[in-house]
Amino acid sequence: MPDISYRLDRAVAVISFANPPVNGLSHAVRAGISAALARAQADPSVRTIVLTGAVGLFSAGADIREFGTPASNADPTLRQLIDLVETSAKPVVAAIAGTCLGGGLELALAAHYRVASADAKLGLPEVNLGLLPGAGGTQRLPRLVGMERAIDMIVNGEPVPATGLANTALLDLVVNSDPLARAVELAASAEVATKPPPRTRDIPLNEPNLAALGEAARARLKAGRPVLPAPMRAVDAIEAAAGPFDEGLAIERRAFLELMDTPESKGLRHAFFAERTAAKVDGITASTPVRPLDQASVIGAGTMGAGIAVALLDAGIPLWLTEAGEAALDRGVARVVGIYDGQVKKGKLTASERDRRLALLRPTLSYETIGQADVVIEAVFESMEVKRQVFIALDQVMKPGAILATNTSTLDVNTIAGFTRRPSDVLGLHFFSPANVMRLLEVVRGRATAPEVLATALRLGKALRKVAVVSGVCDGFIGNRMLEASSRQAWYLIEEGAAPQEIDRAMESFGMVMGPFRVGDLVGHDVSLAIRQRRRAERPGYLCSSLPDKLCQLGRLGQKTGGGWYDYPEGPRRSTPSAVVEELVTTHRAEIGVAPRQIDDSEIVDRLVYALVNEGARILEEGIAARASDIDVVYLTGYGFPRARGGPMFYADQVGLDQVLLRVREFAHNPHGDPAFWTPAPLLKRLAESSAPRWN
Ligand code: NAD
Repeated sequence: MPDISYRLDRAVAVISFANPPVNGLSHAVRAGISAALARAQADPSVRTIVLTGAVGLFSAGADIREFGTPASNADPTLRQLIDLVETSAKPVVAAIAGTCLGGGLELALAAHYRVASADAKLGLPEVNLGLLPGAGGTQRLPRLVGMERAIDMIVNGEPVPATGLANTALLDLVVNSDPLARAVELAASAEVATKPPPRTRDIPLNEPNLAALGEAARARLKAGRPVLPAPMRAVDAIEAAAGPFDEGLAIERRAFLELMDTPESKGLRHAFFAERTAAKVDGITASTPVRPLDQASVIGAGTMGAGIAVALLDAGIPLWLTEAGEAALDRGVARVVGIYDGQVKKGKLTASERDRRLALLRPTLSYETIGQADVVIEAVFESMEVKRQVFIALDQVMKPGAILATNTSTLDVNTIAGFTRRPSDVLGLHFFSPANVMRLLEVVRGRATAPEVLATALRLGKALRKVAVVSGVCDGFIGNRMLEASSRQAWYLIEEGAAPQEIDRAMESFGMVMGPFRVGDLVGHDVSLAIRQRRRAERPGYLCSSLPDKLCQLGRLGQKTGGGWYDYPEGPRRSTPSAVVEELVTTHRAEIGVAPRQIDDSEIVDRLVYALVNEGARILEEGIAARASDIDVVYLTGYGFPRARGGPMFYADQVGLDQVLLRVREFAHNPHGDPAFWTPAPLLKRLAESSAPRWN
């Protein structure tokens, strides 16, 4: 329950609100502050008021637990509360520590004075939810920091440290001590107590370059990709701050309500909540014990092992890194150092910080040494035989209670756990490349994985600042299993007439960070070749185009060999359509007897996205994913799916599952490819034909 405290310090009423964990401005908090303000107004001994958040921070904004409930809009609304503060006859000083975001900052902007601690972070991140600040932020911020700064803060949505705002009218004082004590001092001063309270709304916005700044901001947004409505509308609203305050407020309000209804905002809000929901895992509670995570080991220091090592070092976890031999270990260490050197070169890290992190790295060839680690992450070749040898060895040396994790992309985690005498300590930790950058961590729960092992893995995910999604065991887990379905369609599309660059362009216009063929060239085709070969051997009747195999036979394994689906004459960043591939495709079509046809963008997008959705529905029904939104998180954070579309499953919901089913059935009539591919997943069919056609 929120807690509002009220005390008198000389003639200053100090109102402090607490609503852990982030002092969200819930209805109860708003009502409590409003009542405390009224009490201060009514008390003749009070001359000034200090408003502050307890528990070390001001407020991170709206209480997300209230989103979509009547409480979020119940009186007093945030706008009403803000109005009360701004029109208070007694001056209000906001004391800001820690986080001051969104509605929290909008509240502070309405105070008459603001004192912040130097390490406080202030920002208006609403664009990240496809919205703009809806409680006066677009009108008050420019009056305090100027139009250019306001555009920057609102359009980027990034919090800014208080020190960076010290020279603006937003902050009257930036202090290295407790901001509350200084705020009370300021409030008690004659200077504040005797002057009429200065109101932010009355500050004129004298901006000579108003139009030019707005135009430049719009041009920057249009040049970026994707072009989303919220930042554009935010620029319009900020420009309106040059006019009368109430008119600007009305423009902001209208834009806010319209944005709430856009598919982009719905997608972004879904993505936001989906990430939070993914942390709720069946069988894991706050009281599930967790094991220590003080020391780690990484086995195999190739592409993934090196990236995983950097992720652990970044989190301050000391680790032993091991390899198959001395030369390989040297190469692995060089890879880790190379990643850090690259960051130093780009100015993302200081040399001393790099050295501090690298000091935690302990290369070793001794299995006895790594046995002391609390968690060991295996990232050796994707071969069951190699993994078998590694896990048998780990079982011999790892201390009791150590967590044994595999970074396998596709192999059976239960089989791997069975190589040890402690399958309950084994699970998958599937990182994505580059492992120190990509936010997704698929946590693969084996049949025998103990709850505390899973809970510890989730804790590790947090420590590494990843978004952890729990997956059950299946070939490819959630993400790669869906990717495989979509890739098979992408290859069929080439066979039927589309060029790789046409498919990539269509998917990039849809919003994918990169089209499937550009991604393939980036990650390399040899790994997926090996996986296809295994699947053909393991699954009788497995149908898949031989076109990507033929590409590999030409030695075109992607960027690392100078070319794959594309040529790269100007380096890795610029893909160029390849004449060799065009010839390969033409010959291949002739061999399989397919006459190419024109394929439009909507067919490309629907086939590639609905292949994900149909497989996602199977994954959901089999219980591999706990909920549709977990699947969305996997695709948003690991596969470059456009966040404003909310993920493939949410997108399907928006299109309508009945429409998706219709299209799936239509594709099943395509004479080319694999007719069984488009068998509708039973869950998709059931839901599409039900009265409530939505995922869980
Ligand atoms: P890689 O070939 O770059 O690295 C594998 C490393 O393991 C090599 O350096 C090799 O010397 C080392 N190694 C082999 N046998 C070993 C042993 N017995 N002991 C110690 N080290 C040994 O491969 P990678 O791309 O880093 O993939 C590693 C694992 O991660 C695979 O299981 C792969 O499926 C998985 N994975 C890869 C990606 C990716 O994008 N590359 C993404 C997620 C998961």
